[in-house]
Amino acid sequence: MSSETYEVIVVGGGIAGCFAAATAASKGADVVQLERKPRERGGHIACGDAMKSPNKPKMYPGPIDMGAIEDDADALIDWNIDQIEWWDEEVDVRKVIPYDGHSNVIDRYVFGQRLLEQTADFGVDQHFDTVVNDVTQNGRVTGVEAVRKGEPVRYESQVLIDGAGAQSILQDLIEFENLDTGGETTFEMPHYTHFGSAYREIVETEEPVDYQNAIVGKPLEEMGYIWYFPRTPTTINVGLGFQMTKGPIPLNDRLRQDMERRPEFDDAKIAEIFGEKDKLGSSIALRRPLDSMVAPGYLAAGGAAGMTHPISGKGIRGAAISGYSAGKTAAKAVADGDVSEYGLWDHNRYIFDHDEGPKLASRDAYNVAASSINPNILRAVAAMLPEEEIKTIVGTETDIETLKGKALVGLGVAKNLISEYRGGTFEALGITKSELYEAVIGVRKTQGFVEEYDEHYEHYPDDRARFEDWLSRRNRIDQRFYDALELSGDDRKY
Ligand SMILES: Cc1cc2nc3c(=O)[nH]c(=O)nc-3n(C[C@H](O)[C@H](O)[C@H](O)COP(=O)(O)OP(=O)(O)OC[C@H]3O[C@@H](n4cnc5c(N)ncnc54)[C@H](O)[C@@H]3O)c2cc1C
Repeated sequence: MSSETYEVIVVGGGIAGCFAAATAASKGADVVQLERKPRERGGHIACGDAMKSPNKPKMYPGPIDMGAIEDDADALIDWNIDQIEWWDEEVDVRKVIPYDGHSNVIDRYVFGQRLLEQTADFGVDQHFDTVVNDVTQNGRVTGVEAVRKGEPVRYESQVLIDGAGAQSILQDLIEFENLDTGGETTFEMPHYTHFGSAYREIVETEEPVDYQNAIVGKPLEEMGYIWYFPRTPTTINVGLGFQMTKGPIPLNDRLRQDMERRPEFDDAKIAEIFGEKDKLGSSIALRRPLDSMVAPGYLAAGGAAGMTHPISGKGIRGAAISGYSAGKTAAKAVADGDVSEYGLWDHNRYIFDHDEGPKLASRDAYNVAASSINPNILRAVAAMLPEEEIKTIVGTETDIETLKGKALVGLGVAKNLISEYRGGTFEALGITKSELYEAVIGVRKTQGFVEEYDEHYEHYPDDRARFEDWLSRRNRIDQRFYDALELSGDDRKY
């Protein structure tokens, strides 16, 4: 087996991988990026392709030039999205939530290709057609074994950055308990129930759709949701996702069943790419960011680190932020000669110092609460909640901070409650008054815990030494939350 040595290995040519590799190289590290796909297919990834604020440096930090992406009409298409719509067609509910600052449904493939090109420009060696199938370790992670264009290769490194996406194989291969940490390893191994499976098609319609300026979400059975995200008025990213806590669902068939009921898709065709139909599925992290994303010689970023919004499944921004952080931390640890948990801790610290980490972590409480109740009750609650409150639950920007704002939301609940009662929504969903009342109390209690989690994550420890204390206090919040919502068994997610 041939052998190659680099200071930093990055596995994955997705968003986290590119942000990590470009950042580490820009800070002077000698970096190789390994991607299993061929060069021309890099960046072709299952995604709803909805992306906000590409021009905000805080959301996409580091040396990748997002301005160039923003100016690239092939990647960004158009700033076409200015609202989110929530449809529950069976009970005639349609909520329209303004999307401040506009958003995009991007061409994810072109975007991915541009990221790979920019990463190469920083001097990163990119090895495509390279499937990583083992990890080497000796007290710390020391590298990987891979098959590159059919030939086995060993790569050695001081730091391995895991940008291999949700359910990363690297995490199954590493024996974390055998790494040299001088005690318990801090790295949190995710459980398979913390993931969802999702599938999407790029569909071309004959006529422009009438929701061309909106990203549309609809509820499905078993806590699933379906989306219509228009890239242009006639090119729609249509997809759906379910949590893995539920039994297997044939995603393709379920999507067809939905689209057959929509007239705009009557003569629609699936777009083609590489001479094939453009349809893809993948797993997706639907949990809070990992408690610790570091181990000796190893850092996780993006989907591999749980940096996805636990309700909406949006993970482009989280992958960029955590990829940047991993690359920056790896380069510094190599330069300092300390790749221990202590030396790599800056990665955890950056994530939870940044607004995104605490927001993603705290929003997971809504996911935990929602997973424990009957989906029809959830639909009734969604029908009743005012638009502003839904925005706060699914967004990462908090809109209702003031007392006045909260009072207005309360009034909105009452108004919607009356109108949905009159409209027969709750009757159609088979929901009793007391079930609805209990669910609303559950939402209110959860909101209190969301605020508590948010604050606790904002005080994430600056160094490794205080981690256990922080974690045990976080675990106590979990217990109080579960008890307050009377959750038991598998409903207790962590
Ligand atoms: C169907 C679906 C819809 C989504 N919709 C949205 C959305 O609308 N907006 C949004 O912001 N987010 C969305 N997400 C989430 C978002 O796509 C992910 O959070 C994001 O892609 C994570 O980026 P990543 O770089 O961590 O991983 P990925 O994008 O998954 O990249 C991982 C890369 O690693 C490579 N790789 C994996 N294993 C190996 C190996 N063993 N050897 C070599 N290479 C390997 C893969 O080929 C891949 O290129 C969606 C996800 C799914 C599945």
